[in-house]
Amino acid sequence: PEAARLVASRVADVPDFPKPGILFKDLSPLFGDGAVFRAVIDEIVGFHGADSFDVVAGMEARGFLLAAAIGYATGKGVVPVRKAGKLPREVLSASYDLEYGQATLEVHADAFAPGARVLVVDDVLATGGTAEATLGLVERAGGVVSGFSVLLELGFLAGRERLAPRPVHALLAV
Ligand code: IMP
Repeated sequence: PEAARLVASRVADVPDFPKPGILFKDLSPLFGDGAVFRAVIDEIVGFHGADSFDVVAGMEARGFLLAAAIGYATGKGVVPVRKAGKLPREVLSASYDLEYGQATLEVHADAFAPGARVLVVDDVLATGGTAEATLGLVERAGGVVSGFSVLLELGFLAGRERLAPRPVHALLAV
C-alpha cells in the first residue's frame, strides 16, 4: 500500500553501521520529508484510531519524534521511554540485549494513570528486544498496551515472534 511505498522510498541503507556486518536502515530521509512524515503519522493514527489510546509512548530517540507528532495530532500526552540515567525521578528499569550490544530503558514510575491505554511507537523493529522491554515497562508502570507501531520491521530478525502474541503494526516489513 501507499504507506509502505512511502517508507520504502525514504530509507537509506548504511552498510557496516554501527558495526561491521550490520546493514543499518536509516530513516532520516523520511523524518526530513514533511509530506512523508505527516503521511506516516496519519497512517499510524488511522490504523489504531485516536479513540483507542490515552497516551503515546516512544523509545529514545527516534521513537520520540513519532510519539510527539502522534500526541500533538490527537491531543494525547507523550511519555518518553529513556535510556538509563536520564529521568530525574523514581523509575522502572528493564535491561535487554540489542542486535549490537546491551541496553537499559527506563520510564518514570508514575508515567501512566492506572489502566491508561498506551500506544507505543518506534522507528525500526529489529530483534524486538527494545520493544519487549518497553512493553513490559508500560505494564509494570500500570498502563495497558493498546497498540505497537513501527515504520519498518526487519523481518529476518524475528522481532514479531519475540513479541507474540502481541500484535505488531509495521508500515513496511522487509
Ligand atoms: P531491537 O531492540 O533489536 O528490535 O532494535 C530496535 C531498536 O534499535 C530501535 O529503537 C531502533 O531505533 C534501533 N535500530 C536497530 N536496528 C536499526 C536499524 O537498522 N535502523 C534504525 N534503527 C535501528
